[in-house]
Amino acid sequence: MTQDSTTPASLSAGPPPPGPMAATGVPYPVTARATWLLAPNPGPMTFDGTNSWVLHEPGGHGAVIVDPGPDDPGHLAALVELATEQGGRVTAILLSHGHPDHSDGARETARLTGAPVLGARERWADQVIGPGPLDLGGLRVDVLATPGHSSDSLCFHLPAEQSLLTGDTVLGRSAPSILHPDGRVDETIDSLQRIAALLDGPGPAGAAPLILPGHGPLVPDPGGVLSFALVARESRLAQVEDAVRAGHDTVSAIADALYGPFDERIRRVIEMTVRAHLVYLHDRQRLARPVPIDG
Ligand SMILES: [Zn+2]
Repeated sequence: MTQDSTTPASLSAGPPPPGPMAATGVPYPVTARATWLLAPNPGPMTFDGTNSWVLHEPGGHGAVIVDPGPDDPGHLAALVELATEQGGRVTAILLSHGHPDHSDGARETARLTGAPVLGARERWADQVIGPGPLDLGGLRVDVLATPGHSSDSLCFHLPAEQSLLTGDTVLGRSAPSILHPDGRVDETIDSLQRIAALLDGPGPAGAAPLILPGHGPLVPDPGGVLSFALVARESRLAQVEDAVRAGHDTVSAIADALYGPFDERIRRVIEMTVRAHLVYLHDRQRLARPVPIDG
């Protein structure tokens, strides 16, 4: 589950232009340590598909797979082949979060490679990881807890080159969905602010900050994209606030006022998004009238 389907029209300046995009199934070496393999699962909630990543420390032994993506035999075989080519063997499978478009292929990838699945929840990880550094076959990965899109979201920082794998916390286009009750607007804002601080400035040897997102193109201007995301979030909150003030007093009426008309197949997702924003506004006493969250 990825995107909040529209960008608020009230934002006059658009986001910074997106970076390059991979072609499905074609390995794309992005940095000295990260190669991108786009999975074949495009859709309304996954954009072009899930971005899977192979990480490998130059001169080190072993490779790491981040977000195997869907349980697609061709994609998983290509991912394992790529990782094995680079590192000789796969030492770990990292999950940015448990949403199925990122994690469905993790079990099969573990079976194919014998590598453990590392993530924030024991429900789907062999090894639960939290904030802090990991040494994976000589590759240093700093784990950040970045709840908001989901409560179990992690980002993976490669401090040697100032790049950050963000899963669905920051996307290459548009804004990630925040689906009540697992997703929270306050946590999203806090996570984006912490990522902006982390990527504010070059890394070792002047390496420019770079975001490797879970969907969509590369983000070569993290500062610009994060500032835009924070402004867009406040704009969305203000729209919900205005809709309530204008008399819309149910979740579905607010969803229609803000997003309509839309494909009814995504109504449930849109209403979960509206609920997440209502919770934030309610907690800050910004609602002109009470709106039943479950109505
Ligand atoms: Zn997700």
